[in-house]
Amino acid sequence: LASKDRIVIVGAGQAAIQLAQTLRMKGHAGPITLLGEESAPPYQRPPLSKAFMKGDLAEEKLFLKPLSFYENKDVGLCLNTRVTGIDRANKTVTCADGTSHDYDRLVLATGSRPRMLDSIAHLENVQVLRGLEDAKALKARLSDLKHVTVLGGGYIGLEAAAVLRGMGIDVVVLERMPRLLARVTGETISDYFLRLHRHHGVNILCDVEVTEYVSSDDRLTAVKLADGRDIATDLLLVGIGVLPNQELAEEAGLECGNGIIVDEDSRTSDERIYAIGDCSMRPLQGQPQKLRLESVPNAIDQADIVAAHILGAERPGYNPPWFWSDQYDIKIQTAGLFTGHTHTVVRGDIEVGRFAVFYFESDRFIAVDAINDPQSFMAGKQVLKLSIPLKRHHLEETDEPMMSIVKKLQQK
Ligand code: FAD
Repeated sequence: LASKDRIVIVGAGQAAIQLAQTLRMKGHAGPITLLGEESAPPYQRPPLSKAFMKGDLAEEKLFLKPLSFYENKDVGLCLNTRVTGIDRANKTVTCADGTSHDYDRLVLATGSRPRMLDSIAHLENVQVLRGLEDAKALKARLSDLKHVTVLGGGYIGLEAAAVLRGMGIDVVVLERMPRLLARVTGETISDYFLRLHRHHGVNILCDVEVTEYVSSDDRLTAVKLADGRDIATDLLLVGIGVLPNQELAEEAGLECGNGIIVDEDSRTSDERIYAIGDCSMRPLQGQPQKLRLESVPNAIDQADIVAAHILGAERPGYNPPWFWSDQYDIKIQTAGLFTGHTHTVVRGDIEVGRFAVFYFESDRFIAVDAINDPQSFMAGKQVLKLSIPLKRHHLEETDEPMMSIVKKLQQK
């Protein structure tokens, strides 16, 4: 199945390195070049708001491959290289440093970037957490911080809040929605995380509106809320979601929505160009609309799909979306997408912090959120992957472990 095509990958992150690795592993013989604007070789982002921020993981441990990988596998790695344009007619990309790279197949793996508030972006103690440089900058100032405000009660903000609180820092989380994690999970899990953080001493304020950012000498000093509260702060960490890096694709005339639009093989509207990872909007089994996912498993899944397509191999089997987050000693693992659920079934013990919420759309199982309960997560993932007909009554009628329920259903 070896192909001699020249593969150029824009972005040198999670999806890019996975694609390079899978292509080589499966026998691609042509040149592979990664063009990445950052100075670090491809690294994992999840620890930036977890173990790395806490100081439990050295920088080198973030790197997804040792530098010897690129040499041994003959993968060209161009760092500090920002791609500025795609010439589809001549099948070449141009970079800010004046270089250009010809391709037979181009893969856009440009990821996403944090949303920022323009009015305060210039203030020196307002920051986001996306890349290694952000994480290092944050770590460098931790010892000077007494009061941190986190804007946004999503996963990254809450993970950071947990680490900061663990260091004895006063943390306030401001969430505009009536509950935490509203975009990604149901009320039971939102409520669980609210209580967890409050138990650890984080001041979580939901349903709040910021009316003013007070600054002096290019430093934010306080955040004013609509209800009159005034929150003094040494640092504002902005965690209000991300935007897909799709401008290159748009300028090249590729179809885009909330992400670069791709088909089942991750191909864009140009059959020589693919898009994978956070920057892409893809079809997903059981979903009426194409969606943009932001997770490591999604980046890996799409990279493997593209590798198969480039090599003319069969498309890999369906993998349901999945995700995880670590906060304090709690791990949440999610399989599937909860959006559109009409019913939930909770199994386990919420009070001891070991339980799972199963989401159903009518009687169709669509997702599970498992708190310190890897078995329920694995079982739910399996059900989604193999389309096992799990119904609400299968979970409600028995205390049997999830795996045995699923096994019985498989044998039917
Ligand atoms: P990235 O890994 O972001 O790589 C894209 C790269 O492309 C970047 O280096 C970018 O600088 C570069 N680039 C962009 N434009 C250009 C250009 N024009 N030229 C050259 N280079 C360019 N996911 C989970 O599943 N679990 C977690 O617990 C989790 N925690 C996270 C914690 C943090 C703090 C963050 C930031 C993310 C977390 N994620 C987590 C999300 C996960 O890291 C991303 O979904 C994943 O990295 C996406 O991979 P990607 O290759 O699409 O993008």
